[in-house]
Amino acid sequence: SQIKMVEFVNISGRAKDCPKDNRPEFAILGWSNVGKSSLINVLVQKNQVALTSKKQGKTQLINHFLVNKSWYIVDLSGYGFARASDAARTDWSSYTKGYFLKRDILVAVLLLIDASVPPQRIDLDCSNWLGRYNIPMTFVFTKCDKMKASKGKRPDENIRDFQELIRENYKQHPPWIMTSSVTALGREELLLHISQLRNY
Ligand code: GDP
Repeated sequence: SQIKMVEFVNISGRAKDCPKDNRPEFAILGWSNVGKSSLINVLVQKNQVALTSKKQGKTQLINHFLVNKSWYIVDLSGYGFARASDAARTDWSSYTKGYFLKRDILVAVLLLIDASVPPQRIDLDCSNWLGRYNIPMTFVFTKCDKMKASKGKRPDENIRDFQELIRENYKQHPPWIMTSSVTALGREELLLHISQLRNY
């Protein structure tokens, strides 16, 4: 389940422009600062991959990275989220929704959630939206190494709170994995999880 090679292959604006080779894909979704670039670097290790710059002006992009010539990581960097004022609302554009709803080859969305902070509205809205449309998803909790701030809760407590808040929206709770880019916690588990879903 190791990542030996990653190639950047395609930027699309919408689902219909995505690769048509039917290789399975995993979309990575996460609010900025959640630790997405750090986690991807830990996953691919020495394989330097030129992930798209965060400063890229246009956010309506779907970036495909081909892994080991067999499956895709799809970077939906800040894709379609309401970034500034109204972060409380999952304001996805029709393109974003189109990708999730029309992309048959999408195996699962890996939703990155910062475990060092209490549950965030945007993450709850996002997981509830995906849940409503039965889009398979895995919660990938980041920054699980972080000590609690003086008045804060520990990562495992924040995770428990998050799970509690989404509970009623799911018949079956989505799989979830605790990770840290500092200690590489969860790296093997996440890679194994992906390979199991691919072979399912
Ligand atoms: P992105 O915007 O989602 O790509 O987030 P980055 O990967 O750039 O990380 C945002 C900030 O969080 C940086 O200051 C990182 O050093 C920090 N960070 C990311 N992952 C971890 C982690 O697992 N543990 C800790 N303690 N800090 C992290």
